[in-house]
Amino acid sequence: MMDHKQTTKTISLEQYGIKNAKVNYQLSSDALHEATVEKGQGVTASSGALAVNTGEFTGRSPKDRFIVKDAITKDKVWWGNINIPFDADKFEKLYNKVVTYLSNKDLYVRDSYACADPSYKLNIRVINEQPWMNMFAYNMFLRPTEEELKDFTPEWTVVNAPGFMADPEVDGTRQHNFAILDFTRKIALIGGTGYTGEIKKGIFSALNFILPVFKNTLPMHCSANVGKEGDTSIFFGLSGTGKTTLSTDPERSLIGDDEHGWTSENTVFNFEGGCYAKVINLSQEQEPEIFAAIKKGAILENVKMDENGEVDFKDSSITQNTRVSYPIYHIENIRKPSIGENPKNIFFLTADAFGVLPPISKLTPGQAAYHFISGYTAKVAGTEAGIDEPLPSFSACFGAPFMPLHPTKYAEMLSAKMKETGVNVWLINTGWTGGPYGVGNRMKLKFTRAMINAAISGALSNDPENYINHPVFGLAMPKTVPGVPTEVLNPKATWTDAAEYDKTAKKLSDSFMNNFKQFEEYANQEILDGAPVVK
Ligand code: ATP
Ligand code: MN
Repeated sequence: MMDHKQTTKTISLEQYGIKNAKVNYQLSSDALHEATVEKGQGVTASSGALAVNTGEFTGRSPKDRFIVKDAITKDKVWWGNINIPFDADKFEKLYNKVVTYLSNKDLYVRDSYACADPSYKLNIRVINEQPWMNMFAYNMFLRPTEEELKDFTPEWTVVNAPGFMADPEVDGTRQHNFAILDFTRKIALIGGTGYTGEIKKGIFSALNFILPVFKNTLPMHCSANVGKEGDTSIFFGLSGTGKTTLSTDPERSLIGDDEHGWTSENTVFNFEGGCYAKVINLSQEQEPEIFAAIKKGAILENVKMDENGEVDFKDSSITQNTRVSYPIYHIENIRKPSIGENPKNIFFLTADAFGVLPPISKLTPGQAAYHFISGYTAKVAGTEAGIDEPLPSFSACFGAPFMPLHPTKYAEMLSAKMKETGVNVWLINTGWTGGPYGVGNRMKLKFTRAMINAAISGALSNDPENYINHPVFGLAMPKTVPGVPTEVLNPKATWTDAAEYDKTAKKLSDSFMNNFKQFEEYANQEILDGAPVVK
């Protein structure tokens, strides 16, 4: 029998109002894997990874994410349909129902923390109904040592009851599932959904309030890595734009793949202890590090396997959003601890399905602020029936669903840091080239990697002679990039129909302008000058 517990410590959940539960405290990853298989909630894939189905929800549900409106949040949060207010009394009642539901059950409890920089450490207790969700917490949060566990005082608590269904009429939710943050009680209450991402993004949302408000630190929805010279790169981008893929680089040590803080002490630190990679169409050849991370200890979500437990990464029959979580140490080249210095390069990743934006361009400070506030990517309908047109998608700060404050708060902090450090800012289009989705193709990963390497190594000179400006977006496009065919660098040249390109570029720039209207009153002239050129 293997070591099933990481500690001899035991805890009670009575203080949470959870009565008479059998508490499985701090089980090892292996024990949680076994428990999941025993309960019939997962199977072992041929790689050794645990494979589960998350059930009704295979992605986050942003419309069911609430924040309790209380003395701490009422004047600070940017309330609206992203940060939906929840009544404190209603929360109290719903919480009591959830803990009653969890009473008398077999539960899985884990103490962990967020924030790799010790001065920002946030201790978290995660209480799960299901063992695999507790294993997810082991993978994704930072893992305290046995010594640290001895006098561990949890600050935030995640109460996770996927089997509890809310009654919207009575409970004040929109439907049966919910993810609610209470900053007074320091609780993330998640019910009615088995999607594990709600757990990590719940704590991320909490930190996106706590760090700027109380710790003068900029929280960022970005990945980060560091080169041999100690030079940090960070990669912002919405879901599917390449944060995880591009930060996982054998030549550069991974700091983290999704959530970081940029401190006033000139450091960048990871909030998490693991990675959560998309695996749709994953190939060993193109992404060998991520492929190799899928082994015992990893959790595959919503993938299809054959009778031998061999995963078919092309199968999207359950969802396009197939995932794997693994502790960061499943990647070979990692930074320990997960902290870097001020970034030398910032990449804004976008998957432009219109095929309009250049695959790499250099941004002025005004353009950088403009594009950060805009947070553009495109959504492709993929396999959904009836929809074949890509849709522009704007999400401020490249992560609006997780940002409790007004976007300009984060943008101001980022702008100040960019000015202070003189960091280079690049816009990378990991999306379409040669035409829009359906006509052109996605930019080759190999080329995107070469462009990023060239930016980092300094192979792209600062000489303005080496750039031409995009006629609509005003972005500086390099004329040549080592390792990249010159003809892909200017998007218009990749289209067979130049007039069609101009038309599409105009359409996309109109979407940018329309979206930015809501922020215009907050922007200075420099930022406004970063907008596409009006013709
Ligand atoms: P999330 O916030 O949801 O975690 P992410 O930004 O981390 O999203 P990735 O998991 O890196 O996104 O997903 C990018 C996907 O796009 C991967 O499946 C990758 O293989 C694919 N891809 C195809 N071409 C490119 C390219 N040129 N650059 C980056 N990724 C590409
Ligand atoms: Mn990712």
